[in-house]
Amino acid sequence: MSYVCANCFQDKIARRFIRNKGISGDCDFCGSKNRKVIQAYQLRDLFEEVVGLFEQYELPPGSESWMGGETLAKCLQDWEIFPEDGNEKTQNEILDEIMGFDRRDGDNLASDDWAAKSSHWAANHYTNDGLGLLTISNDHVDF
Ligand SMILES: [Zn+2]
Repeated sequence: MSYVCANCFQDKIARRFIRNKGISGDCDFCGSKNRKVIQAYQLRDLFEEVVGLFEQYELPPGSESWMGGETLAKCLQDWEIFPEDGNEKTQNEILDEIMGFDRRDGDNLASDDWAAKSSHWAANHYTNDGLGLLTISNDHVDF
């Protein structure tokens, strides 16, 4: 189990959650000492919805142009969940811990290639404010 601190996130909801529910300790990801930290998996409920917008990237059949997927951290960049100057590799490791992704379970890892399930949906919500507004946005979304 890995501990993560509020500094590892930019998202207000995630930061507040860690400050409210955290215990004092050291962050396993950014190395901050003596901060409020929580076990990464405790953030899963918060992240499930936004991570659920993405899926493993697969080349469309018959497609000639290779668009490519991106790591999950990269996909989430527009949601401003992680600090802009953060390390993508570390962010993917945090996501693996939060979501419990494990290759041994046949899961895709955050560092694999991902793509939005619906570019239309995501494009319409790139102006939103990270984890906090997802619930509100859902009312207007027709899956
Ligand atoms: Zn940290």
